[in-house]
Amino acid sequence: MQTKNKVTIIGAGYVGSTSAFSLISHDICEEIALIDINKKLVESQVMDLEHSIPFYGSTRVKVGNYNDCRDSKIAIITCGAAQKPGKTRLDLVKKNSKIITEIIPKIFKINPNIILIMVTNPVDVLTYQSIKMFPNKKDQIIGSGTILDTARFRQLIGEELSISPKSIHAYIVGEHGDSELPLWSTAQIGNAKIKDLRKISENKKKEIFNNARNAAYTIIKGKQATYYAIGAGVALLARTILHNNNAVFSVSHLMNGEYGLKNVCLSMPAVIGEKGISQKIKLNISYKEKLLLQKSSKALKKVIKTL
Ligand code: NAD
Repeated sequence: MQTKNKVTIIGAGYVGSTSAFSLISHDICEEIALIDINKKLVESQVMDLEHSIPFYGSTRVKVGNYNDCRDSKIAIITCGAAQKPGKTRLDLVKKNSKIITEIIPKIFKINPNIILIMVTNPVDVLTYQSIKMFPNKKDQIIGSGTILDTARFRQLIGEELSISPKSIHAYIVGEHGDSELPLWSTAQIGNAKIKDLRKISENKKKEIFNNARNAAYTIIKGKQATYYAIGAGVALLARTILHNNNAVFSVSHLMNGEYGLKNVCLSMPAVIGEKGISQKIKLNISYKEKLLLQKSSKALKKVIKTL
């Protein structure tokens, strides 16, 4: 069947519904199908989302089922348990890996060419698990990874330097979680390395990174979940795929010897187009950053072993 600019979202909770709202408000796709095991919730989310359409554009949104994957270009996975106050993302692995084992084969059986965006946590572990099930689809399986952490990092640097975060090219990489790391050595503004442009003290750098890394804990403590920023990021990823933009994001993908890493998914910048990951960006990171990246990989592998 011919695909159209259609996105199927599995999981209609905070993240799934906010991703749908972001897609609608930017008029990114023709149709959205929302799937959830909670029938009342998904029906109510669809009704509420439908009522926003007259303000924005012409997206159609409906309660869906797995057959909707057949003519969709993208499936976004946001279903499963979410992080609870004081718990880490890695704590979710048992419950969510079981769900992933059930739904990923269903999706690829219906549409082998679909691009999968994994958002459910622990996102790196579940991205790896999905690629292990479907190794020949490794470029089609993208973990949202540290797109959110990177956005938080850029926003905080921008605030410190009074420069738009859109002009700051700096990444948080590694695990989307506690072992992630900031790449200060490659951070740039307007083609200049941040370290050559403006002096940020080591203490300030630590504070910026800690605030970015711990943002989810702070937000979850206050309002149970984080969803606006990830919804915006997921919608931008979807637009990049649908428009074949070939834009760069710090997404989680399979390492194949880069930075001495193998058999693990974690975030490093990669180019995203209509077929998924089209290129990996090899960064010249510092020795210390490389060691931290390897440490992050080790932390993830420890969890992968428990699958
Ligand atoms: P939520 O509890 O609001 O929504 C999850 C939904 O999944 C629920 O509506 C539930 O009914 C549904 N669900 C559970 N099992 C299902 C199944 N087998 N099939 C279909 N639907 C099913 O949670 P949330 O706040 O939306 O978070 C969703 C996930 O996204 C969590 O794992 C969370 O940790 C993760 N998350 C990731 C990022 C990121 O940057 N990667 C950011 C925020 C949240």
